[in-house]
Amino acid sequence: MLLPDTKRILLKLSGECLMGDEDYGIDPATVLELAKEVKAAQDSGLEVCLVIGGGNIFRGMAGAAQGMDRAQADYMGMLATVMNSLAMQSALEQLGVHTRVQSAIQMDEVCEPVIRRRAERHLEKGRVVIFAAGVGSPYFTTDSGAALRAAEMKCDALLKGTSVDGVYDSDPKKNSDAKRFDTVSYDKVLADNLKVMDASAVALCRDNDIPIVVFSIREKGNVARVLAGNGVQTIVQKDNRNGEV
Ligand code: UDP
Repeated sequence: MLLPDTKRILLKLSGECLMGDEDYGIDPATVLELAKEVKAAQDSGLEVCLVIGGGNIFRGMAGAAQGMDRAQADYMGMLATVMNSLAMQSALEQLGVHTRVQSAIQMDEVCEPVIRRRAERHLEKGRVVIFAAGVGSPYFTTDSGAALRAAEMKCDALLKGTSVDGVYDSDPKKNSDAKRFDTVSYDKVLADNLKVMDASAVALCRDNDIPIVVFSIREKGNVARVLAGNGVQTIVQKDNRNGEV
């Protein structure tokens, strides 16, 4: 097992993971594949919390760059994460995985509000809990939402599925000599501005000692592989057992 004594994880997927080969939006076949990854994590005996971004639909920063009011645009981004969460709920239910969506922006007709104790109960009953709408406030991201929920729900690790297989010392898509860290400290990530999650999310994980596992979500079966300790990933953590900084 990658992280011994791990009972509960939070998996963060960016909205772009849901697009498949499209340039925009939700590809149901891709969402179903991702749902299989989530199910595999649950089948391995873990309690699973999920946070999905909204970048496949709308990002506040992009709206603001085109002249929109930033806060207004951010609320649109948060609504996009609710759509993605509902799509994932539907896919998980197709696989027989009981799921609840809890949104930081209340919308009683479509999902529950975020209620920590209720979320606890869902997890105890074997349900996946998808936390939507980030932290519920503009000027934040779903990375921060993921870190917040991971802390609140006392998750043992935050798994960040991305398009690369870990954290590198420079951009591996631009520099063929880029070196991937097996482990790296929170402080180095922050000091060197390494691409993991935004700074507030990394700081929240550091302050609450939640390891961040960065891995590629593009390879099928990778969530289970990484969790079993047979995958490729970077662990951002406090202690650096391998002696790296
Ligand atoms: N957002 C926000 N507050 C939050 C979470 C998200 O304002 O707590 C908005 C913000 O505009 C962001 C958008 O929702 O750009 C989509 O989230 P994010 O960019 O984190 O999605 P991802 O990159 O993970 O797909």
